[in-house]
Amino acid sequence: MAAPAVEATAATALRSVALRARKAAERVGRDPERVRVVAVSKTKPVSLIRQIYDAGHRCFGENYVQEFIDKAPQLPEDIEWHFVGHLQSNKAKTLLAGVPNLAMVHGVDGEKVANHLDRAVSSLGRHPLKVLVQVNTSGEASKSGVEPSSVVELARHVNMHCPNLVFSGLMTIGMPDYTSTPDNFRTLTSCRAEVCKALGMSEDQFELSMGMSGDFEQAIEMGSTNVRVGSTIFGPRDYSKKST
Ligand SMILES: *Cc1c(COP(=O)(O)O)cnc(C)c1O
Repeated sequence: MAAPAVEATAATALRSVALRARKAAERVGRDPERVRVVAVSKTKPVSLIRQIYDAGHRCFGENYVQEFIDKAPQLPEDIEWHFVGHLQSNKAKTLLAGVPNLAMVHGVDGEKVANHLDRAVSSLGRHPLKVLVQVNTSGEASKSGVEPSSVVELARHVNMHCPNLVFSGLMTIGMPDYTSTPDNFRTLTSCRAEVCKALGMSEDQFELSMGMSGDFEQAIEMGSTNVRVGSTIFGPRDYSKKST
């Protein structure tokens, strides 16, 4: 039977990613416990997520609101869910209402979506939600995120005007071909220094979400505390059946 073999492979792949993440942290003298592996399960079936869950992993990420709110209720409540990537303001409340165990949003890229999330948390009576500001470190027009020069302003907005959000750090997406990945990651770490200084925050507690399947070890070596790994764990994605 082919299907169970694929699922066994996913659990094995997760273990291998976790080990590689730990080794990358150790190579640069970082505490491996400070690195979270967010298993990005977008387009993947609940049954496959369940396999990884049963192997002991609890931290998962999704990227499409509708898919997310369809899948989350079918899975255990002790999953720590992360929303990764661009979120449309008008879907903030749908997301919050549909995923009670949402732990963090990686990708607040403007005041509008921050305000919508803030109001949604308040109106649903939920605990304050951790958010990361997305930075466009590659300068590509197709990428979401604020320019590095606007990061402090948005971080300050979240801190001062969104009482139901907890500004927790920064997130970025590298280049698809990884050519300038070290530059992207360096830009994010210098934004961290700027924000910490401006807001009086400590770098020790600050979250950096950088690194995906192809560059997560490098990201950890450069200080990442959240790596968002999809295809290396779950296999390549098939978008042919998706509308969004
Ligand atoms: C899909 C996605 C990932 C995972 O990408 P892989 O290359 O499959 O590891 C990470 N971050 C975001 C924002 C994504 O949308």
